[in-house]
Amino acid sequence: MKSIMFIAPPAAGKGTQAELIMDQYHIPHISTGDILREISKEDTEIGNYVYETLASGNLVKDEITYKLVENRLSKKDCKNGFIIDGFPRNYEQALKYDEILKKINLKLGYVFVLDIDEKRLEKRITGRRICPDCHAVYNINEENQKPKIDSICDDCGGKLYQRKDDNLESFQTRYQMYLKKTAPIIEHYDKKGLIYHLDGNKKPNEIFDQIIKIIGGE
Ligand SMILES: [Zn+2]
Repeated sequence: MKSIMFIAPPAAGKGTQAELIMDQYHIPHISTGDILREISKEDTEIGNYVYETLASGNLVKDEITYKLVENRLSKKDCKNGFIIDGFPRNYEQALKYDEILKKINLKLGYVFVLDIDEKRLEKRITGRRICPDCHAVYNINEENQKPKIDSICDDCGGKLYQRKDDNLESFQTRYQMYLKKTAPIIEHYDKKGLIYHLDGNKKPNEIFDQIIKIIGGE
């Protein structure tokens, strides 16, 4: 099993696909966001640095991220494949990622690009509502994901809220940034023959079927 990378705009359903892959192939999901949150709890020099950087809303220095990614991917459970998430975010990081993999003797495998209509993403993001108590996620723009009673969590009765950046303007900014940053990454991996496009407009299980077909009998 080779490693897997997703390139997907916000709210494209990347997390769902990562979970399906983990269940089917029993490989770890390596999220740089999770790694950073974990390390920020440690009372060490690097832990404190990451904690303060995240708390102030800044980005952690690339060298730190590289080191953490290398350490995590060096662990045994990554030998038989893994899903990398949240990294690389731009072309420079992609080059560095290739170097890291080479250094620790791992192969880059599938780079899945989740293609999805912008309008669909817009609807998903602006309709998203979250329960503060049990963290259930709803969508008031999707018939089958609406809460039964307006603004109330079906599971626990919590009062649903909308995340501050789940608005149209913030989505547009994030989406344009995504296109700009990922275009060179896609081109880079396309040259290596590693890019696989998935139709993200389909249902989650149909998208997963596309993935299984590509990965094949491995
Ligand atoms: Zn709830």
